[in-house]
Amino acid sequence: MKGRKRQRLAIVTAGPTREYIDPVRYISNESSGMMGFAFAKALVKLGFKVWLITGPVNLPTPDGTRRIDVVTGQEMRRAVMRLVPRADLIVMAAAVSDWRPARMSGHKIKKRDQSISINLRPNPDILGEISKKKKPSQTVVGFALETSDMEKNARRKLAKKNCDWIVANDITSIGSKTSRVVLFNRNGRKIVIPKLAKDDLAVVILSHIFGGTK
Ligand code: C5P
Repeated sequence: MKGRKRQRLAIVTAGPTREYIDPVRYISNESSGMMGFAFAKALVKLGFKVWLITGPVNLPTPDGTRRIDVVTGQEMRRAVMRLVPRADLIVMAAAVSDWRPARMSGHKIKKRDQSISINLRPNPDILGEISKKKKPSQTVVGFALETSDMEKNARRKLAKKNCDWIVANDITSIGSKTSRVVLFNRNGRKIVIPKLAKDDLAVVILSHIFGGTK
């Protein structure tokens, strides 16, 4: 309709990825997808059209979202990069595996009484790739899960990955219904948010992003 504002589009990634060693075994992590799903719900309420790109999780699809299920990091990359040019907001809450087996065996590797090694190669860094193509009108939110030097690593990631915001959390957040995070933005702002349920936390984080915190 003429004069009506275009609906803003958000991409949210969520959950873990699985990187297969053979047809039945894989490398993954404890991500539940809850944080990404919480962002998707909150963004629908804010009037966004939401594409929720998720790894394997056990969660119902939030009302009003378009869900794309993926399994591997490479699949997630393809799904994200296809939509990036149209997105106004990109929230990268997925715990994409940083490595994948260099080769996947076509058959189940037979049990042997010997050690074996798996050669791992880096997965595409989706957030890093987005940062190279980012338009000034796009807002990119990355996550940093750190086990040490949280602030230093989060600030470094913010700069290196050309994000507008980084949500830093520690490993107690993974798989938990609650999280305690620190937000950093490209203007050097640091905002400590107390422990909250992830559904509430997403709303609070978005209120900083869109509520005028410079
Ligand atoms: O460098 P690190 O993996 O800790 O960065 C975390 C951030 O990067 C998260 O926002 C995550 O979704 C994103 N990421 C990605 N592609 C990867 C690994 C992480 O987009 N292969």
